[in-house]
Amino acid sequence: ATPISVMVGTGRAAELGVYVREGDALQALHAADLVALDKTGTLTKGRPEVTDVRPRDGFGETDVLRWAAAVEAQSEHPIGAALAARAEERGLALPDATDFEAIPGHGVRATVEERDVAVGAARLMERHDVAIPAGAEETADRLADAAKTPLYVAVDGTLAAVVAVADPIKESTPAALDALHTLGIEVAMVTGDDERTARAIADQLGIDRVQAEVLPDEKAAAVDDFQAGGRTVAFVGDGINDAPALAQADVGIAIGTGTDVAIESGDIVLMAGDLRGVPNAVHLSRSTLRNIK
Ligand code: ADP
Ligand code: MG
Repeated sequence: ATPISVMVGTGRAAELGVYVREGDALQALHAADLVALDKTGTLTKGRPEVTDVRPRDGFGETDVLRWAAAVEAQSEHPIGAALAARAEERGLALPDATDFEAIPGHGVRATVEERDVAVGAARLMERHDVAIPAGAEETADRLADAAKTPLYVAVDGTLAAVVAVADPIKESTPAALDALHTLGIEVAMVTGDDERTARAIADQLGIDRVQAEVLPDEKAAAVDDFQAGGRTVAFVGDGINDAPALAQADVGIAIGTGTDVAIESGDIVLMAGDLRGVPNAVHLSRSTLRNIK
C-alpha cells in the first residue's frame, strides 16, 4: 500500500470524527463483510431507566424498590444506576447494604435490613436456587418482548418482584445500520442481555444476527465463531468486557465515549460515539484502497 493514500484516508477519517489508531486498520476494514456490535452503550445510550416494578403478592412496591436499590447503589453497572435513580426520584432513603457481591453477566446480591437480596437475570436466580413462578416468568417474557430488560428480585430465597429497565437507542443507530446494509455488510448484535429483549431490539433495528446472553468473557469467542464461518469481522464496543472482542476482531472499533480499556483495544476510535462513523470508515477504506490499486 502506498503510505500516502493511507495518510490521506486517515486524515479524511479524522475530519469525520473517526480516529485511526492503527495504520493498517483502514486496509483491514476494506475487506469487512460483517459488523458485530455490542448493545449497551454502543447501539444504545448506555443509560437505562426503570420502566416497571411488579411486586409479587405479599411484597410491597416500596420495599422491593428500596431493597433492590440499596444493593444496586453499590454496583458499577448502568442497571445499578437506573435502580438507584428511581429510588431517589421516589424520595426513598436507602438502607445500608453489606456483603455486596457482583457476579458479571448475572447480577448483584447483598444483605439489606438483615435480608438476603439478589437482583439480576434468571441465571442469577438459578445460581441461588430461587424458584421463578410461572406467572413471574410470563411477566418477564412480556416485558422482554417489549424490548425491556427484565430483572428478578429475590428476598431470602423467594422471588419478590420482576423489575424492568430500558435503554434508549442512540439517535445515530438506525441511519448507521442502514448505511452498513447499503454497503452490503451484514450486521450482528452481541450482548449479555436477555435473549427475548435482544431479539425485540434487533427486530426494531433490522439487525441480521443476534448473539444474546453472552457472558462477559465469551464475547471474543462470539467474534471468533463468526471468523471461523469465513467472515471478516469488525467489532464495535465501548465496555471493559468488549476489549477482548475488539482485539479478536479483524478490526476493533471502539466508542470514544466508552471505557479507556476499550479505547486502547480499538484499531479505530469513533470520537463522539456516533455510529455513523462505522459506515463512513468502511466507505473511506474502500475508496482509499481503490486509490492504491
Ligand atoms: P450488557 O452490557 O450487554 O448488558 P452484561 O454482561 O453487563 O451485558 O449484563 C448481562 C445481564 O446480566 C444484564 O442484562 C442483567 O440481566 C444482568 N446484570 C448484570 N449486572 C447487573 C446488575 N448490576 N443488576 C442486575 N442485573 C445485572
Ligand atoms: Mg457496552
